[in-house]
Amino acid sequence: MQAPSSTAIDRPLQSETMLVHAGRDSVSHGGMVNTPVFRGSTILSSNLDEWESRKTPDNPMASYGRFGTPTTRAFESALAQLEGGHRAIVFPSGLSACTHSLMAMVGSGDHVLLSDSVYGPTRAFATQVLSRLGIAVEFFDPHAGAQIRQQLRPNTRVVFVESPGSASFEVQDVAAIAAQAHRVDAIVMMDNTWATPLYFKPFEHGVDVSIQAATKYIVGHSDALLGAATANERAWPLLQRAAHDFGQTAGPDDLYLALRGLRSLSVRLRQHGANGLALAEALQQHPLVAQVLHPALPTDPGHALWRRDFSGASGLFAMVLQPVGRPALRAFFERLELFGIGLSWGGYESLALPMDRPTRTVRPWAHEGPLIRIHAGLESCDDLIRDMLNALDGMALHL
Ligand SMILES: *Cc1c(COP(=O)(O)O)cnc(C)c1O
Repeated sequence: MQAPSSTAIDRPLQSETMLVHAGRDSVSHGGMVNTPVFRGSTILSSNLDEWESRKTPDNPMASYGRFGTPTTRAFESALAQLEGGHRAIVFPSGLSACTHSLMAMVGSGDHVLLSDSVYGPTRAFATQVLSRLGIAVEFFDPHAGAQIRQQLRPNTRVVFVESPGSASFEVQDVAAIAAQAHRVDAIVMMDNTWATPLYFKPFEHGVDVSIQAATKYIVGHSDALLGAATANERAWPLLQRAAHDFGQTAGPDDLYLALRGLRSLSVRLRQHGANGLALAEALQQHPLVAQVLHPALPTDPGHALWRRDFSGASGLFAMVLQPVGRPALRAFFERLELFGIGLSWGGYESLALPMDRPTRTVRPWAHEGPLIRIHAGLESCDDLIRDMLNALDGMALHL
């Protein structure tokens, strides 16, 4: 029997099945279940014809390590299949995937629109670097939907969405935004890190380039940094060209860890999602919590759109506290035992992060009290809830 390789399976597969089978080709790797870590810069050819054939763009072995190895191709093909796109390409971090995907599409004189709720460093890149290159950068209301039409110009080249948005968790009507953007021929780019390709299928909603900070749920164990962008056929040639021209590449060990992470993504995400929602519901009841920002809560303003477009929730959300002072906030973090204070998310462990007030230029930040971003890890949900409620109770002594 032929060892299963997803490229050999013609039937349409569910995402959970793809996670297990995509990007595997054990026959080519001595029967090994997993694609090995291929290290290398030089790739030898044994004759002139082979050398020339290696240089064709679709050769999976490429001609030089910078363009990727079988480890790279295994991850890229698995991700492209999961996202439902044409092809994917890797970057050394999630932010690098965002910035280089933008650079791949724009030129001087173009206009770029980004959601006001976009990931802070993506926003900073647009305002600080793109602007300097003669590109007009503007932000749009995450709630705009089809109203984004009013901000589109004939030279709008990219519309960048992120749903739900970083820090605010506002859900966007991606399909409505994409339909308008395509009327002026703009490329719709999405940061799909929160939902992963399991819970949001970007290309079914009109997205042209979908970006993953694989650092988060795909790697899943807080031990590697990696980014990826998946494009449809329209956007792929420009994306690939620019990634190569910029010299983008990613290390084989990180790619291996990302491939390994993919295999268990669906079971991890289910637990992250369940823990996150249970925690959000419990926090909502606490008198010192002003608001919980989580689109899977029925009371959340983005809930209807989330239900329409997403097939699940991951474990990242935020809460806004009542306007308490620094001593109370310090006491809260002091009492937490199971939540670490730290950047990133998507690993197996729980995190609580004090966030600065997000920069907003279109729809002002509506909340007053301290903002805390929470990542629900894979611990027992009861333990997580008890730990955080205990820390909130501890604040009362310092008000
Ligand atoms: C973390 C993150 C990124 C950046 O990923 P890195 O691998 O840390 O560079 C991009 N977008 C979102 C939404 C993120 O949360």
